[in-house]
Amino acid sequence: MTELAAPIQRLDAHVSRDRLWSRHMALAHHGAFGETGVNRQALSAEDIAARAELVRWGREIGLEPAVDPIANLFLRLPGREPELPPVLIGSHIDSQPTGGRFDGAFGVLAALEALEAMVEAGIRPRRSVELVAWTNEEGSRFAPGMMGSAAFSGARALADIVALKDPDGVRVAEALDAVAAAEAELPRRPLGFAVAAYVEPHIEQGPILEAAGIPIGIVSGIQGKRTFRVEIDGAEAHAGTAPHSGRRDALMTAVDTLAALRTTLHDDDDVTRFTVGRFTVSPNAPSVVPGRVVFSIDLRHPDAATLQRLGDAVAPTCRAAAGSCQVGVTELLHDQPLEFSAGLRAVMRTLAGELELSRQDIASGAGHDARHLAPLCPAGMIFIPCRGGVSHNEAEYAAPDDLHAGARLLAATALWFAEASDDELKEMCR
Ligand SMILES: [Zn+2]
Repeated sequence: MTELAAPIQRLDAHVSRDRLWSRHMALAHHGAFGETGVNRQALSAEDIAARAELVRWGREIGLEPAVDPIANLFLRLPGREPELPPVLIGSHIDSQPTGGRFDGAFGVLAALEALEAMVEAGIRPRRSVELVAWTNEEGSRFAPGMMGSAAFSGARALADIVALKDPDGVRVAEALDAVAAAEAELPRRPLGFAVAAYVEPHIEQGPILEAAGIPIGIVSGIQGKRTFRVEIDGAEAHAGTAPHSGRRDALMTAVDTLAALRTTLHDDDDVTRFTVGRFTVSPNAPSVVPGRVVFSIDLRHPDAATLQRLGDAVAPTCRAAAGSCQVGVTELLHDQPLEFSAGLRAVMRTLAGELELSRQDIASGAGHDARHLAPLCPAGMIFIPCRGGVSHNEAEYAAPDDLHAGARLLAATALWFAEASDDELKEMCR
């Protein structure tokens, strides 16, 4: 790494805190609501306008735009050996309906800042470096999310994705057509290609870095997640005439079931995450004994064996609490915990040290596009603090100095990987 110290230093001097901040403010106009809110859902008119602005900024500094069939957007700084797989850096610019200015946008704008710093510093790296803005990370308009990165990696088939509909009945395919029409002059690319390395900066969306007063989190991995649907069927009855002894009250059984699950899934160390976020009672009438309850379970843990054990306990726990009702448990999703490339993390730790940025290791509680890149290449993430850990909210805030710190580490890391020898890169894949 020693021979790279000088170029990295030169590059670092060009990473601009003020330019990065003003780009965040400018991008936030697309879909702005309230004082600082952003509603820029995937493949919407606001998203299209924000993408056009990104392309404009990229072209101003000589980056080459391209779009793939799922509308992932790329801005390429060609390397000295442009035939080599590029280093990909970025995140997403779609938001939740009640989103803020930094979730996703930070990763994309930090990537643009890293590329602009390379251009300004006159650095043309060996491998190309490309900004990527993945399509529909949030999954609020078209569920599920991480659509662009899942299609890119092959984790999900494009044909399945384009058939999905938003709540208004608009298919992904139609929304993609609208984007393609607006971007008719952009070069097209086939879906998926070889990648040398992937680095995604993101706000933490949690309270840990802020509480520690540390600007950089080197993300160790993404915790695993299992989701379930629980259906409890009893019998509707008259609230005044049906004796308790004969009732099959689905809501009372649901209460017992939740209490049993809370006990089964309790964790003294507060690492396990167990959430029932949706709960519906039928017929939901004040004078009718409830006949049916359906609720969701979202269960997460960073350790694969623990997640397996806890998730496997869900159905038996529900059945044991069923009483006179029928209980059905359906598992909807099982995403294994993921550990990011140890080699890439070591490089980032060293570079953060050289840049005199204090950093700590941190696990990601939320899912990110980097999940889909991890099987393809050395992949990793940089977290920065956000105020109060608040995200998916108008009040979401990250300080200019922290955004700057994250962009500096991204630029240095991107250059390191863009210049790495084939052997060094091979080392990273082990
Ligand atoms: Zn995000």
